[in-house]
Amino acid sequence: MTLRIAEIFGPTVQGEGALIGQPTVFVRTGGCDFRCSWCDSLHAVDSTFRQSWKTMSTRDVWTEIQRLSGGRPLTVSLSGGNPAIQDFGPLIGYGLDAGYAFACETQGSIAKPWFADLAMLVLSPKPPSSGEAMDWAAFDACLDFRPDNTVLKIVIFDDADFQWAEGVARRYPDLPLYLQPGNPETDPDSPVDLNQATGRLEWLIDKTLSIGWFTPRILPQLHVLVWGNKRGV
Ligand code: SF4
Repeated sequence: MTLRIAEIFGPTVQGEGALIGQPTVFVRTGGCDFRCSWCDSLHAVDSTFRQSWKTMSTRDVWTEIQRLSGGRPLTVSLSGGNPAIQDFGPLIGYGLDAGYAFACETQGSIAKPWFADLAMLVLSPKPPSSGEAMDWAAFDACLDFRPDNTVLKIVIFDDADFQWAEGVARRYPDLPLYLQPGNPETDPDSPVDLNQATGRLEWLIDKTLSIGWFTPRILPQLHVLVWGNKRGV
């Protein structure tokens, strides 16, 4: 069993969503079935980066996670790209046996039975600004394998995304929802304008509260505030 890996790094902290601030090792997979207009992980998506991806055995990925974490169990974040393209069941099995936990973020386009073994499944459907169209039947199939902790995370760039997110919340009222302002700065070498980043967050908070929508949690990207767009942190 081999896995296509863009990068493995950490320990760091989870920068987004329900596990924000949680120490973690990231396993970023190579390849994605989407091509969002504002993707901030193009090095794990675009085929021009393919030569930098590694084909690793599941055992070698597990060994690297143990090395980075010093053998101390923590939460491993499966990210991408779209990790659901690949079979992480055996890796999760190794980790669970050693006391590790796994979280995974995916757009919800491909369902995998190993979702059921996750400590946290983050389904992040992509809004209109992404240029992608969601297949809700495929998304619903992901929910067939959802673990107890399954949440929605939606990135909001503009008013159309916001209205779309309201519709998604109505469609899945039982799933906790996390909203996050979009980050238009995707170049890893460009500095992040913190005033603009906090301004986008304030806009989203104001917009959500102004309509009396009190169920979502509204969070920044912690890693962007701390490290900008730098990769591998
Ligand atoms: S689904 Fe995620 S990784 Fe894939 S293109 Fe969109 S933002 Fe990038």
